[in-house]
Amino acid sequence: MRARVIKSTGAWYKLITTDEQVIEARLKGLIRLDGLTSTNPVAVGDYVEMTNEDGDWMITKIEKRSNYIIRKSPAKRAHSHILASNIDQALLMVTASKPRTSSGFIDRFILTAEAYHIPTVLVFNKQDILSEKDQQIQEKFINIYQALGYPCHLVSAITGSGLDEISALLKGKTSLIIGHSGVGKSTLANAIDADLNLRTGEVSKKHEKGKHTTTFAEMFFLHFGGAIIDIPGIKEFGVVGFERNEVGLYFKEMAALLSDCKFHNCLHINEPKCAVVDALKKGEISEERYKNYLGILEDIEEAKSY
Ligand code: GDP
Ligand code: ZN
Repeated sequence: MRARVIKSTGAWYKLITTDEQVIEARLKGLIRLDGLTSTNPVAVGDYVEMTNEDGDWMITKIEKRSNYIIRKSPAKRAHSHILASNIDQALLMVTASKPRTSSGFIDRFILTAEAYHIPTVLVFNKQDILSEKDQQIQEKFINIYQALGYPCHLVSAITGSGLDEISALLKGKTSLIIGHSGVGKSTLANAIDADLNLRTGEVSKKHEKGKHTTTFAEMFFLHFGGAIIDIPGIKEFGVVGFERNEVGLYFKEMAALLSDCKFHNCLHINEPKCAVVDALKKGEISEERYKNYLGILEDIEEAKSY
């Protein structure tokens, strides 16, 4: 029988069957996947085959994923963690403050999403409480990301402004909702579908200090059709599985210039006749994005020494 994973705790899995029954299942033995060292072999969004053995449901096979989102395991350095799979789009929620979303977080997420062909939409929440300074930060972000082709939406999950557009975006699709804890993911989800009843609230300072708090992604179904995957408690987004010379291929503005660089494998650092560095000097590409690009190359180098 076929089912889709809607929650994974590592020990057991919550699944929804094709006839919309919700059941719990375990993994039967070891399932090998793609040669990745993943701390969670089964991810939310996976389509699986299962059998019933003496009243217990066992997952016997994971269907090939059309895409997935992966990050470095926060607990084990050499391991990666598949956050979710078979996703139509990602809604990246951003707030200029409370909490502050850094461009580094945005660019790391977009890099991963681009590599796995997941379209990303940016949702700027908390429009009702923007200070003048927040407004400036937000405008800077919008200028950069809209020009690159990432749609930007301004919303307030509290007042409801802009949410009709978000509902229209989500309808009939599987969407990942991602962003730092406290940006308003749960509040937004509840505002577009009151039946969801997700827990909201400030993450307490004490809780935040427990660095390795385990969080579990979960899929929720929308009454108007479609599903969202909520991943609570993301503080950073470590990229995995990239070689240094691949990163520039997923920074759209750099990829577009690569053929103008002298070297076809140019890393755009200090090579002669680099079209990216030229464009940077002319102010045609964002300095902030370029800085994040270099930061990601450094992260990759650093990861190799483990
Ligand atoms: P999550 O961790 O991303 O799920 O964030 P929550 O949905 O739990 O929201 C964190 C806090 O931000 C809560 O206190 C919400 O009431 C508040 N919040 C969420 N959206 C908005 C908004 O649009 N405006 C304002 N003023 N507060 C918001
Ligand atoms: Zn170059």
